[in-house]
Amino acid sequence: MSNLRETASNFQKKLIGLLCAAFLLIAVVLLVAAGLITADMDKDDAVLSLGETWFDDWYTVTRIDDVTFSIGEPRYWQLNYNYLLLGEERAILFDTGPGVRNIKPVIRSLTQLPVTVISSHPHYDHIGNNHRFEQVAVLDVPSLRSEVKNDLFVSRFSRAFTFRRMSPFPVTEWLQPETTIELGNRTLTAFHIPGHEQGSVALLDAGRNQLFTGDFIYPGWLVAFAPTSNLEKYMASIRYLLTRTTGDETLYGAHAIPEHPSPTLPHSALTDLLNALQAIDDKSLAPVSRFPLRIYPVNEDMEIYLPPF
Ligand SMILES: [Zn+2]
Repeated sequence: MSNLRETASNFQKKLIGLLCAAFLLIAVVLLVAAGLITADMDKDDAVLSLGETWFDDWYTVTRIDDVTFSIGEPRYWQLNYNYLLLGEERAILFDTGPGVRNIKPVIRSLTQLPVTVISSHPHYDHIGNNHRFEQVAVLDVPSLRSEVKNDLFVSRFSRAFTFRRMSPFPVTEWLQPETTIELGNRTLTAFHIPGHEQGSVALLDAGRNQLFTGDFIYPGWLVAFAPTSNLEKYMASIRYLLTRTTGDETLYGAHAIPEHPSPTLPHSALTDLLNALQAIDDKSLAPVSRFPLRIYPVNEDMEIYLPPF
């Protein structure tokens, strides 16, 4: 009997050892894969879109019109795009990127106007340079109010899901949803559009038919698997945007992919995304992959990723 017990306990020990080794191996493979995926691209390998030119060896500038610029980071693994919107009296910088480099020299090369930062949402790849600016405006919604501790905005998501240390920043202005922002001969409207993230914001320049959408919609793989993503709210926000836009707008997203290096989409992409989300919701659209994330096609420019269960 005691021999049997010893054999059973030896077997258990070996099994635990094997399981530990297997987990360790999986962890190493995942870490190596994550390192490869998130490594910065060589400058020569970065794919630029029409009209996009290098500012230095990291940032690019695209002149959308005389007072609208996109500032790209095509070497960053998520191909981020930030937007500088100039009025006659002041400017808005919509997103500041992951903060791999200081974005201020690019901004100062384009304008001497006072700049107010607005981030499309508080994820690490959109607020990385916020602390470098004196004016940061944030949408006045409960989820974003709750990120402020001791007068400093500290993104919980960024603290929890990135190894990069994000610098906190003071909020100098709280914007009510649907507020209009006067820049001097240019007016923007800020919309609250939860879905990708509960504090997501879009900016509309109705005079120029420009809608800046952050991570809510862009060409490539859309994220609906983040802890604060919500499918119901995503659909409701698209319906809301459809009532607040004419259909003539171009969408300017915060990311691109090498196969679609321009971060812009036509307005019809909003309807395509709504149709796909509705089909996912009523289970009439099958995923092209189920694990580790469910991936659904949206149209030829986009797919959307959801949690596996
Ligand atoms: Zn992002």
